[in-house]
Amino acid sequence: MYRDLSQAAGAGLAACAQEAGGAPSGAQTAPGPASRSRRVFLGQTAATAAGGLALTPLLARSATAELAPSGESIDAHIHVFPAGTDRYPLKPGATPNKRPLPSFTPEEFLKHAAPVGVTRAVLIQFSHYGYDNSYILDTMRQHAGRFAVVAGVDPQDKPRDKIRELAGQGARGVRVASAGRTPDDWGRDTGLAELWRAAGEAGLVVCALVGPEFLPAVERFCQQNPQTTVALDHLARIGADGTIRSEHVDALCGLARHKQIHVKVSAFYALGAKAPPYQDLGPMIRRVVDAFGAERLLWGSDSPFQTLAPHTYRDSIELLHSRLDFLSAQQRRCLLADTAARLFFR
Ligand SMILES: [Zn+2]
Repeated sequence: MYRDLSQAAGAGLAACAQEAGGAPSGAQTAPGPASRSRRVFLGQTAATAAGGLALTPLLARSATAELAPSGESIDAHIHVFPAGTDRYPLKPGATPNKRPLPSFTPEEFLKHAAPVGVTRAVLIQFSHYGYDNSYILDTMRQHAGRFAVVAGVDPQDKPRDKIRELAGQGARGVRVASAGRTPDDWGRDTGLAELWRAAGEAGLVVCALVGPEFLPAVERFCQQNPQTTVALDHLARIGADGTIRSEHVDALCGLARHKQIHVKVSAFYALGAKAPPYQDLGPMIRRVVDAFGAERLLWGSDSPFQTLAPHTYRDSIELLHSRLDFLSAQQRRCLLADTAARLFFR
C-alpha cells in the first residue's frame, strides 16, 4: 500500500517543497522528502553510522523494508516520557499512574513509527512535566536531527526570557493551551500576549491546544503578532465531543486568511466518531485543505494516545497516506512531511 502511493507521489514532491519555502535541511541521519538515492543514503547511514545512535537498527529496517520510495514522513505531534521519575520529576499533582502508559520513550515510539516510514517527530512538551522541558531537550540532543522540540513555557513567568533561553537550546516551538480558562480570560492574558510576541521574535512556532470557541482569541493574538508562526493542534479539537459542527469548521477555515496560521491534522483517535479508519473526518479535512492549502497543514499522531487500542499508529497515518481520495500525491507529501520539515526541521 505504501509503495503504491509513494510512486504516485514522486513527481509532486519537489514542487511542494519549493512552494512551501524549500526542502528540509537534510540532517545527516534523517534525509528530507526523498529520491531513491536519498533513501539508499539513509539505509547506508543507518547501517554504517559510527555515531552510536541507539535508533539506527530500527531505521535501517524501515529503510530497507517498508519505507516508501517517496521519502520519510514526519509526525508533528508526539509526547515522550521515561518510566522513572527520579531524573525527570513530574510537576506537583501529577503522578506516574495517571500517564497513558508506564513509559513512551523514543525507542518505543519508533517501534510504531519506523515500519510505516516515519523517521522524524516533533516532541511536544507533556503536560505532566509542567514547564520543565528537560526530557524532551535531552532526547533531542541524544538523537541529533531526529526530533524537534516544542517546549512548555509559563506565560506568567517572564516568558520572553524563557523563550530566548529555549531558542538558544534548540527548541523550535512553544506550547500554549486554553484548558481551564474562558475564551475572554484567555484572550486578554497579557502574559500570553508577551509569549506570543516573544515567540515570533525568537523564530519559534506557537503551538496552540485550543477548542473552537477559542479561535476568535487566537485570531486576535495573530492580528497583534503577524510575525509569529502558529500551528493549531488537532484541527482545533473540532469534534472532540463527538460532533463535527459546520460552524466550527467555518470558523477554523476563516482563519486561513492569516498566512502565518497552520493546522495540525492530527489526533484522529480523539475526534468525531473516534474510530478507525476515521473516514468520517474526511469532509472536515477536505474543507481545511481547500481553505489553507496542504502546504500549511501537517499530520501528527498525538502518540502515545493514538497507539492505545482500539487505535493504532498505522491507522492514523493511513488516513492521509492512503485513504481520503480527494488528496493529491503532492498534498499527501505536504501533510506527511514537507510542512513539518519547513516549520520544525529547517
Ligand atoms: Zn498531544
